[in-house]
Amino acid sequence: MKHNKKQSVRRRDVFRFTGEHVHRGKGEGDFQVLDHITDGVMLLDRQWMFRNVNRTAARLLQRSPTDLIGRDIWAEYPDLIGSGYEKAYREAAETGLPRTVTEFYAPLDTWFEARVFPCECGITVLVRDVTEARAMSERLSDQAAHDALTGLINRRELLTRLGELVDEGAAASVDLLFIDLDRFKEINDSFGHAAGDEVLCVIGERLSGSIGERGHASRIGGDEFVVFLVDAPEGEAERVASDFIVRMRERIETPSVRASISVSIGLARYPVSAANADELLRNADTAMYHAKRMGGSHVWTFGREDARRLSNRLRLRADLEGASATGQFQLYYQPQLNLVTGSMYGAEALVRWNHPELGLLAPGDFLDVLLESSAYEATGKWLIHLALREAAQWQAADRMPYKVAVNLSATMAQDCDLAALVREAAGAAGVSASVLDIEVTEAVIVSDFEAASRSLAAVRKLGATVSLDDFGTGYSSLSYLTRLPVDRIKIDKSFVQQLTVTETRRQARVMIEAMVALARALGMQTVAEGVESAEQLALIQKLGCDAAQGYFIGRPVPANALNLSKRCNLLPAHMWSPK
Ligand SMILES: [Mg+2]
Repeated sequence: MKHNKKQSVRRRDVFRFTGEHVHRGKGEGDFQVLDHITDGVMLLDRQWMFRNVNRTAARLLQRSPTDLIGRDIWAEYPDLIGSGYEKAYREAAETGLPRTVTEFYAPLDTWFEARVFPCECGITVLVRDVTEARAMSERLSDQAAHDALTGLINRRELLTRLGELVDEGAAASVDLLFIDLDRFKEINDSFGHAAGDEVLCVIGERLSGSIGERGHASRIGGDEFVVFLVDAPEGEAERVASDFIVRMRERIETPSVRASISVSIGLARYPVSAANADELLRNADTAMYHAKRMGGSHVWTFGREDARRLSNRLRLRADLEGASATGQFQLYYQPQLNLVTGSMYGAEALVRWNHPELGLLAPGDFLDVLLESSAYEATGKWLIHLALREAAQWQAADRMPYKVAVNLSATMAQDCDLAALVREAAGAAGVSASVLDIEVTEAVIVSDFEAASRSLAAVRKLGATVSLDDFGTGYSSLSYLTRLPVDRIKIDKSFVQQLTVTETRRQARVMIEAMVALARALGMQTVAEGVESAEQLALIQKLGCDAAQGYFIGRPVPANALNLSKRCNLLPAHMWSPK
């Protein structure tokens, strides 16, 4: 700063000096003084002749001062004609106002910055070589726009370009492919982060190698990539996405990793399925999640149905903040039946949202919105406290050690303070922590196995049990299952329902039998979910499940309508229990 100020003072002095003294005809002698300053200084008269040139300017122009003085600038440097320099020189001379210009001058292979000051005899030009500075700033802006690992453009640059293309209307259409690696975390976990980085580089190379002229690839964070196609014909993005799916599956071999990886891709197109750049990115992201839910290695194109769902979600998300504060959440309980004794051993707590305008909403309508909302932590705490309080009441009323099952999100199940929360809630309700059964899905455990194992093990130490929910629908990795701190697995309702469908009954039987055998071998119990008929109840009993729940046994009801003392007529033991 100090330096600049000094320079600008110096420059002003030069201007005054050259303007006055040169005019008085002392030009040459005075220019010797100017030889000591770092800027090039040259004086041009009204006929565009060099009147004087200091040593620096001569060096920059690659001539000697005596050689230039008295010669016409346009004759000596004809490439200046038509350049920004010529324009600035003429304007300064004509208007009497200073001008500044920075331009590349090809014959000398140099970027010059010229500051032009009018003076009585013509113009004085302060000139400097800014080639190095420009190269540096280009390098910096290049670094700021690119991802250091893959060399692809980064998130910020992507947003800038989408802004220009979509919001400023530079493109007629933009297709956006939101690409996420499937189970990339497993690579990091098994081979280490350096190997993970190598994989990301390979993926980056494959992407940029297969997008063609209209495509641009970026890495926007972690294992997320975005490719966009500008003004591509309809359908091309789908074709590119299918190509990616195939190409990405090719085996990756780097110095530290040999692996195959698949990707999930979400597609959205401006202007068809998004009105602006933000929406385009968000909708492609939403579509990517849809592709993920299909089990990975899929492409999903954002459509009208997605738009409807999204606008619903946005609305619910907005309503959610007030919902927990105003007590719109309520717990319903679905009884769980012990298939050996024929009596209920507890109930699963299911959260309902009594929405002031939309009515009673089931978890399917809002649970994923709730889970990603900041309101969830408070709601989750409230849920455990209330469930234990209400279970304490059933226990007291029937003098039975009923259990209550609560579904937990990933964040809660992986939270190291979960055990403290359970202890506190059990204490407040006046029951033992063993009343609580925690239900988690495989996805919850797989997403951070170590954290989930630690916190669930801590909760089990208190006496609570853990159930693996929706078993058979997720990744169902056997190696995970053997290491899990889990007491029972809940066989997903899809298997139970297939038991009574002619085409699928045999397969469903085999699957359930296998799950029951596996659970027994690991010392776990099995609960069949979604039992909706007497026939299904009889079948799962025959297949050896330990417990069951479903509409046939009891629908979810508010706490005051729950009756756990009713018994269920089961098959006589000799008919189903050969083992
Ligand atoms: Mg559940």
